[in-house]
Amino acid sequence: MLSSNLTVGENGHLFFRGHDTVALAAEYGTPLYLLDEVRIRENMRMYRRAFQESFGPGSAPLYASKANCFKRIYEIAREEGMGIDVVSSGEIYTAMQAGFPLENAWFHSNNKTDWDIAFAMDQGVGHFVVDNREELDAIARIAGEKGKTQKILLRLTPGIDPHTYEAVATGKVDSKFGTAIETGQAKEMVAYTLSLPTIELEGFHCHVGSQVFGEDVYERTSDIMLEFIRECRDRFHVPLPVLDLGGGYGVRYVDRDGEVDIPAAISRVARHMQQACARLDMAMPQVHMEPGRSIVADAGLTLYTVGTVKKITGYKNYVSVDGGMTDNPRYALYGSAYTVLLADRPEAKPDLRCDVVGRCCESGDIVQPDVDLPEPRRGEILAVCTTGAYNYSMASNYNRLPRPATVMLTEDRAYVAVRRESLEDLVRNDI
Ligand SMILES: *Cc1c(COP(=O)(O)O)cnc(C)c1O
Repeated sequence: MLSSNLTVGENGHLFFRGHDTVALAAEYGTPLYLLDEVRIRENMRMYRRAFQESFGPGSAPLYASKANCFKRIYEIAREEGMGIDVVSSGEIYTAMQAGFPLENAWFHSNNKTDWDIAFAMDQGVGHFVVDNREELDAIARIAGEKGKTQKILLRLTPGIDPHTYEAVATGKVDSKFGTAIETGQAKEMVAYTLSLPTIELEGFHCHVGSQVFGEDVYERTSDIMLEFIRECRDRFHVPLPVLDLGGGYGVRYVDRDGEVDIPAAISRVARHMQQACARLDMAMPQVHMEPGRSIVADAGLTLYTVGTVKKITGYKNYVSVDGGMTDNPRYALYGSAYTVLLADRPEAKPDLRCDVVGRCCESGDIVQPDVDLPEPRRGEILAVCTTGAYNYSMASNYNRLPRPATVMLTEDRAYVAVRRESLEDLVRNDI
């Protein structure tokens, strides 16, 4: 099986974290997001331990909460001692509702509105990650109006191509995110930032991309960032102690994907950085990373009920499910690969090659093309694996489909963490 939380029960059904998925579909309805709470906590602890061992005090992983955002997950992050990344007032509000201590939140986004900035400051968000000069001016002005000094990191683009998909590569010079080092604009930004009395510059941030497997991506990134910090130290005589290397470690969606040994990878980055700092005669910064996908992806599984099985003789076969691009837009957006299993009979011999498609009025509404399945019957349950990241958080109400519920699983318990949207929910804001 793709992941150790997937097993086959004695009744032949697919089990997830020890629970019968067919029984869960019957109890909670479909489409249904399942989230393995045990795995989320394991992943958070794995990062925390790796950071303690490799980087020492002051360094910490932050959960990039855009990957999957709802109240319960912020409670879990708080319980596990994780910091968080947030990218909007909506995420900040959700974290507040969960009692998350916002001094331990880092506020991202390439275009924070004045309203967002004021809201985040009023709620006490600890750190802003500033994308560009206009935004910096707005933050400095609003901090001034509130009589505050705001701690920030400057987001820089180190000019690294992480060899991932184009749509999720973000660290190249021409990216929409951040300020480029190569063009000299980053250096100018630092000088300008240091002139602003309401801003405290803690250091720098970069994020080169997502679903990164490339061996030395973070080493190469840290080389560029450390050199830049060293140049700033020499020129401006300020410490700039924080370096945030962003998120992005890849996860396994299908058998052919590699697997990143994250603690080993972090330990290699740390050793590389210690050597670089010695060579550059500088102190090792406090390091942050912001994993999203690698915290929650393999904790997720989506269940659907099979509807129409359509065979177009001589052409292709379609298996339609009761969800689709509304609950998982990732194939439509990026052509993402997924593993699909027939939850009723995961070990039956595959005898049908088909496209698994959704119920939306859109030809691109494909969950996954070219899947080999035991021919499913109407009413059977299909499971799509590794859907914990960027599924619920990207879900929409296209075609007025209600968003699915999220059911969390522990070893001995299943509980609803996000209720299924009702038809009434869909018209709640219609006047
Ligand atoms: C999306 C994003 C992350 C998380 O990336 P993952 O691939 O989910 O680990 C971290 N930092 C920033 C700035 C991001 O935009």
